[in-house]
Order: sequence, then structure tokens, then C-alpha cells
Amino acid sequence: MERRTGEQCAVLFLDLDRFKGINESLGHSIGDQLLVTLARRLEACVRRCDTLARLGGDEFAILLEEIGGLEEVTAVCDRIHAALRQPFLVGGCETYTTMSIGVVYSDGAQSASTLLSNADTALYRAKAQGGACHTVFEETMHQRAVTLWQLSNHSQQAVQRQEMHIRYQPIIDLTTGQTTSVEALIRWNHPQHGSISPAEFIPVMEETGVITDIGYWVLRAACQQVSQWQQNLPRHLRPTVNVNVSPRQLTHFALIEQIEHILAETGLAAEQLRLEITENALIQTIDLSMQVLKTLQQLNIGLCIDDFGMGYSSLSRLQQLPVDTLKIDRSFIRHIKQDGENIEIARSIVDLARSLDMTVVAEGVETQHQLDQLKTLACHKVQGFYFAKPLLPDAALRFMQATASV
Ligand code: C2E
Ligand code: MG
Ligand code: MG
Repeated sequence: MERRTGEQCAVLFLDLDRFKGINESLGHSIGDQLLVTLARRLEACVRRCDTLARLGGDEFAILLEEIGGLEEVTAVCDRIHAALRQPFLVGGCETYTTMSIGVVYSDGAQSASTLLSNADTALYRAKAQGGACHTVFEETMHQRAVTLWQLSNHSQQAVQRQEMHIRYQPIIDLTTGQTTSVEALIRWNHPQHGSISPAEFIPVMEETGVITDIGYWVLRAACQQVSQWQQNLPRHLRPTVNVNVSPRQLTHFALIEQIEHILAETGLAAEQLRLEITENALIQTIDLSMQVLKTLQQLNIGLCIDDFGMGYSSLSRLQQLPVDTLKIDRSFIRHIKQDGENIEIARSIVDLARSLDMTVVAEGVETQHQLDQLKTLACHKVQGFYFAKPLLPDAALRFMQATASV
């Protein structure tokens, strides 16, 4: 890429989300067909004067020359995401995929290799945000990306050094006021970098692959903790446990064996464990994870769609999924006003859950009026800072004991 200076241009670095999974499950020839169709769709998203190149594997780059501003670049990215929302017909079956895009916007002063390297850094950030999105490069990204990547690769040692622990956030039944379950949420206190949010490090671990080890550790530690509570609590107080799982865990059949092993080891009954999968992760991996989900259901392990309402699950899909709980994304709860304004999305999710015979949980409940409004909808369960933040085990146990006597 030879560039003149003084001219506005943008470089887009594109990468298919979870292409490896498609290759592994559907075979390389299907993977190749998908790449050909994808390249045609990408071509249709850019102007004739733009350059589209395949960098190798499932990586592409686009050079947009003589552009008017960042809005134009964003429009191209939006077109690409929209083009991918149509299913791909490969090998006689329909499959869906998404792309992450790193964008670097330039006045042409940087060399081609710097532009590509910066676009790659932005791409990495887009992946870390869960994929299926685009991110524009900023200088500060470099250091944070490198740090997180390095930290993620040392996460096993972090577990051994006890820098990681689990907190438990109570989930309360709205009719009885009792804590029926707890959600296990991982925490990482790094000696130099302080507390790192799971929203930041989980996506990196997902990318580097260490999530399968850390995920196993969380599952095991949470089941152990809850099993111990079970033995020391009267029957009517015994909580079940919700554990978040990542797409990479869900598309591996090893998850089933791991869970069976953990349940046998800890003595926790299968119906006392529920896995939470975000709606977006579920949509992205559905073809690959369906078999795992069905087996989990046969084992009596509960399944909850987390952050529901943020993705685009079709109703027919939802009905086919072996899911028993919907968790309303907290952004829909946050906007509920005292007079019930903005309650419509929560209402429709509660109605949807009821018509599909599923349990519905509202998360992120912070105020009394949000709670009152959710009661009018007859939402089944609630979770949020109004009741309790994610708690250390001892405090969680005290909370459960206190709500048992209400
Ligand atoms: P999530 O599963 O949707 O978990 C709920 C998040 O909302 C938690 O953030 C919790 O602390 C926060 N939250 C709960 N109630 C309220 C509230 O009333 N107001 C507000 N503002 N926030 C509330 P956290 O612990 O930072 O976790 C973020 C995300 O990281 C989780 O979202 C989950 O997707 C992921 N995560 C956490 N632990 C694990 C894990 O062990 N494995 C995997 N795969 N993902 C995890
Ligand atoms: Mg969750
Ligand atoms: Mg959630």
C-alpha cells in the first residue's frame, strides 16, 4: 500500500468471529465456501475505488481512500454488519456469522505497516467487547491491550496465588422474598493493576483460550461453595447456583464431562446448577452449541439466557432452545421510571417468558420504584444492588439466612 500524505484515509482490519469453530465443526471445505461468499458480500459494501484484500485465513483488510470523515467509515462498517445478518447458505445448511472490525483513521502521515498494526489493535479491542462490532483505534489502546493479553496468559498462576475469587449475588423470589439462588461472579485483584473487571478480562480470556481453564475453576469453586452451604442450611433455605459460561466453553463437549465430574466430586445435584449464557453468545454459537445445550438439559442442568433483550433472538429460535430462564438485561431495568415509564420492554420480556413457560429474572434492580414496577408485571425473580451487591461467601450466607425469615 503506497500512500500519498495529506489525504484522509481509513484502514479496516476485519476478522470473522469464531471462524475456527466453523472450520472445526462443519469442515474446511464449508469454511472455504463461507469465505468466498463473505468476500463477495464485503465487495458489495465498498466503493469501486476502495481496496479489499484477504490477508490470510479469515482476515481481510479494506483501504478506504479519499473519505470525507469518520461517519463515512462508520457507514461502511454498519453496511458490513448488516450484510452479515443474512444467513450464509453453505454445504446445504444455513449458518450465521459476524465480524469484528478494527478501524484506523488517518491523514496519510503514517506508514502502511503502522496503519495495519493500529487497525489490528483496534480489532483486538472489538473482539474483547464480544465481537460483532467495530472499534476505532486510539493511542491508549496499545498499552491496555498488551497488559491484558499478558495478564490473561498468567491467569492460571493468578488462581494459584489467590488473586482471583468468587462473589455471590443473591437472586430473590418476588413472591416469597427469599433468596432462591446466587449468581457466581469472578473477581480479580491484581497486585500491580488492582481490581480488573470481568467485563474487561473475560473477553480477553475467551480470545486467548484460557477461559476454558478459568471457567472450569469457577464452576468447581462455585459448586463446592454451594454444596457446602446446602449441607449447613435447612432444606427450605438451600440456594441453587448460577454460573456464567463463555461461548468457547459452550462449544466444547468437554464441558459436559467437566460438569459431571464436578457434580460427582462436590455432591451438588444437577438441578441445583444453572448455566448463564448471554443472548449474544448464544446466537453466535447456536449451531455449534445446540448439542451441548441439549445434553445439559437431559442432565437436568438449568439454562438461563443472560442479558436478554440485547441480542436479536428470533422467537422461533427461542422456542427451540432448551432454556428455562430469561434474565432481562439491566439496561431495561435502569430506565424504568417511578410512574412506570419505559417499562414496556421489561413487560414484553416478562410476557414472553410466561408464554414460553420460562422463569423471568430482572437484573440490575437498584431502586424501590423499579422493584414496585416489576411487581406489577408479576416478574418472578429479581437481582440487584437494591438487595445486595455480589458478596463474599460469609456475607452471602448471612444474607440468605436473613431473607429466609422475612
Ligand atoms: P452478568 O452475568 O450479566 O452479571 C451481572 C453484572 O451486573 C455483574 O457485574 C454484577 O456485579 C452487576 N450488577 C448486579 N446488580 C447490579 C445493579 O443493581 N446495578 C449495576 N449497575 N450492576 C449490577 P460483574 O460482576 O462486573 O460481571 C460482569 C460480567 O462479566 C457478567 O455479567 C458476566 O457476563 C461476566 N462474568 C462474571 N463472572 C464470570 C465468570 O465466572 N465466567 C464468565 N464466562 N463470565 C463472567
Ligand atoms: Mg450472568
Ligand atoms: Mg446479565
